Amino acid sequence: KNETTDVVVIGAGGAGLTAAIAAKEKGVNVILIEKMPMIGGNTNYATGGINAANSSIQLSKGINDSIDIFIEDTLKGGKNTNNKDLVTLMANSSGKMIDWLVERGADLQDVGRMGGQSVNRTHRPQGGKAVGPNLVDALSARANELKVDLRVSTTATKINEKDGVITGITVTSPDGQPYTINSKAVIIATGGFGANEPLVASYNENLKGFGTTNHKGASGDGISLTKELGVDLIQMKEIQTHPTVIPTNNKMITEAVRGNGAILINRDGKRFVNELDTRDVVSKAELSQKGNSAYLVFDQSVRESLKAIDGYYNKGFLTEGNSPEELATKLNISNKKFKTTIDQYNSFVKNNKDLDFNRNDLPRQLNKPPYYAVEVAPAVHHTMGGIAINKNGEVLKNQKPIKGLYAAGEVTGGIHGSNRLGGNALIDIVVFGKIAGDNAANLSQEK
Ligand code: ADP
Repeated sequence: KNETTDVVVIGAGGAGLTAAIAAKEKGVNVILIEKMPMIGGNTNYATGGINAANSSIQLSKGINDSIDIFIEDTLKGGKNTNNKDLVTLMANSSGKMIDWLVERGADLQDVGRMGGQSVNRTHRPQGGKAVGPNLVDALSARANELKVDLRVSTTATKINEKDGVITGITVTSPDGQPYTINSKAVIIATGGFGANEPLVASYNENLKGFGTTNHKGASGDGISLTKELGVDLIQMKEIQTHPTVIPTNNKMITEAVRGNGAILINRDGKRFVNELDTRDVVSKAELSQKGNSAYLVFDQSVRESLKAIDGYYNKGFLTEGNSPEELATKLNISNKKFKTTIDQYNSFVKNNKDLDFNRNDLPRQLNKPPYYAVEVAPAVHHTMGGIAINKNGEVLKNQKPIKGLYAAGEVTGGIHGSNRLGGNALIDIVVFGKIAGDNAANLSQEK
C-alpha cells in the first residue's frame, strides 16, 4: 500500500496534536499516527500546569509578569545549559499560545506557581482538575472537528529520504501490515525515552534499574527512527528522576510529603539519608538499600498538613498502624528498631538538630497516630535531551536543517538544559508543536 498526503505527524501526544491542528488549520492534508490504542502519551499524565508570561488570562488577573523574567527563571532552572534562542522563542510565544489553546477549548483559567518561577504563571484548569487530560481532550476534539486523519495502533517504523530530502514514512498498520505514506513534510512528536530502561542506562549509567513515571509508549522511537539519518542529538544524559515513586504502580508521591515532615526508613528500620537532599542524591541512597527501595513514613499530623495525602489514602496507597510498632509489623520491619528510629528522629526535631543526616528543615515530630507508610523508589520522570532543532522546528544534522523533517516536544533536546522546571514541559510541547505544524504546512505547499 502506498498513500500520499501533505504533512505526516508521528505521535499523538500534546506536541503531535498541536502540530496536526496547526497544519490542518492552514488548509493542508494531515495524517496523524499514534502507536498506542489511545492518544495523549505522557501529556495525559501532566498534573502541574503550563507556564506562560503575558497570557490574556494572566493580564486579566493583574499579574505583573515579563518575558525576560520567564527566560531568566528557565535558564536558572536549567543551570544555564539550555539553548537560549529556543528558550527565548518559547517565552515570547507562551502567552499567545495559552490564548490559542483557550480558543480551542482548553480550561487554563486558574493561575498559580510551581518551583523555580518568580511570578504566578502556571496556568491550569479550575477546581484542581489535572491539566494534561484537559489539554488532550480539548486538542483531540479540535482535531476531530477539523477531520484530521488520526490513525491509532499504527507505528512509524522508518522515515524515508532521498538525496537528503524527506519523502515520507513507513508505518505498521493495526493488523501488522507495513505501508508507506509519502509526504513532503514529516513531524516527529514521539515523546521521550523515559520508559526505555536500557536506553536510559546507556546514556546515564547511574539510572540503571530505575522504574519510570512515564507511559509505556515513551520508548524513544524518535531516537531510533532518526539514527540512520544521522541527526544531531544533544544533552542525552540529562534525565530527570523523581525519588518518591511507588514501585508497584509507578504513582508519584509529591515532594511536599517530605517537605512537611515525612522521613525515609529502610528495611532495617533505619533512616539512611537527609530526606530533603537533591533528587539525585536521595534517589541514589534509596537504591543502595536492601530491596532497592525504602518506606516513606509519617504520622497523622503530616497527613493533616497536606491535602494530597488524602488522595493517596483514598486510593489505598498507604499502610496504616496505630503505633510505630504496629506499622513496623505490617511492613515486616523489626518493631524495636523502627520505634527507636522514630523516637530518635523526634528528639532531633525537638532540639532542632539532625545529628544523623543534618537535615536542616525539621517541621514536626512524628507522634500523632495513626502512622502511615508507603514504599518508594526513584523513577525516571523526564528526558531533557533529544533531537536538535532550530527556531523553525527543523531537525538538524551537522547543525544544518534536513529538508522536510521537523520535531517537537519531549523528543527534542536543549530547551530545558540539565533540569526542567515544573510547568515548562507543556509550554515547550505546544509552542514547538505549533511552529513545526505551521512550517511543515507551508513547506508542503511549496512548488
Ligand atoms: P509530547 O509531550 O512530546 O507530546 P507524549 O509522550 O505526550 O510527548 O506523546 C508522544 C506520543 O507519540 C505518544 O502517544 C506515543 O505513544 C507516540 N509514539 C511514540 N513512538 C511512536 C511511533 N513510532 N509511532 C507512532 N506513535 C509513536
